[in-house]
Amino acid sequence: MRQSKVLTIGEVLVEIVATERGNGFREPVKLIGPFPSGAPAIFIDQVGKLGQAAAIISRVGDDDFGHVNLDRLKSDGVDVSGIDVDPLGTTGSAFVRYREDGGRNFVFNIRHSACGSIEIKGPAAALVETCTHMHVMGSSLYAPSVVEAILKATRRIKAKGGTVSFDPNLRAEILNSPGMREALAIVLGETDLFLPSGEELFLFSPADSEKEAVANLLKGGVKAVVLKRGAAGASYFDATREVSLPGFKVTEVDPTGAGDCFGATFVTFWLAGADPETALRYANAAGAKAVTRSGPMEGASTRAELDALIAEQRT
Ligand code: ATP
Ligand code: MG
Repeated sequence: MRQSKVLTIGEVLVEIVATERGNGFREPVKLIGPFPSGAPAIFIDQVGKLGQAAAIISRVGDDDFGHVNLDRLKSDGVDVSGIDVDPLGTTGSAFVRYREDGGRNFVFNIRHSACGSIEIKGPAAALVETCTHMHVMGSSLYAPSVVEAILKATRRIKAKGGTVSFDPNLRAEILNSPGMREALAIVLGETDLFLPSGEELFLFSPADSEKEAVANLLKGGVKAVVLKRGAAGASYFDATREVSLPGFKVTEVDPTGAGDCFGATFVTFWLAGADPETALRYANAAGAKAVTRSGPMEGASTRAELDALIAEQRT
């Protein structure tokens, strides 16, 4: 049997976080960071940490923020040969401050950072040929060259008989960037495993109920839908089965990265042929572990850590 290898493409960033809650950055605040970040980077780090072959295509600057990411991804087992280190570029960043109400204010530098343009050529093109599964983060469709790179790799991996997973990772209100909806729809057309969270289920299938939205997606060619429900857990749907599992009971410290670690774990177990219930249980455990640690990528778990949480809360 061919060894599976998971690929993703998109933003690699550092996150720098205000240590005190409040409104934004219009006055000096204490900061902590840099933490390795970027939704596709968090996703692929979690895949690598589970021992599944994994790779990411992106671009960073030849600066400390870039090397923080390269070092972490490498040490967690991710193939970084597709990350172009641009000597003239600056690594992307996100400054984040939590408000008292739990909301967040951001200052992003992504579109004009090194990963503002990503191309599939040289080592990245060779890497695509070695991968059997493509994971698309909707939030990575932020610039024309990145959209083109994602669509190219997705189609290539599909054409070779591979599979595709897709996490829209957007809230309905940020769908306005030009060409975004079109690109999302093309990706959905290639998707085997769709991993929306909450209202994202209705992005492509305006329906009156969850059941109807899922039925429309399955009719459209998606093989399975995995719906994330935050602290309440998650549900799995395919043509013949429906499985729902509650979330694990943990103390939430920082919700960032939960969906990415959840998705990475579900995809890893799904590719290994696990039944939906097992994949969902491990994915819920990974999402729960993720929220217990501050820093976006800090909450990625090993298989042993997931086994320990599952054993601890088995009823
Ligand atoms: P993100 O904000 O990272 O994009 P998301 O909206 O994609 O997240 P969520 O539904 O918030 O996804 O979280 C993904 C999974 O993580 C959930 O399905 C659940 O398994 C787990 N999870 C999230 N929050 C909690 C929590 N407070 N307690 C336990 N598990 C949680
Ligand atoms: Mg998400």
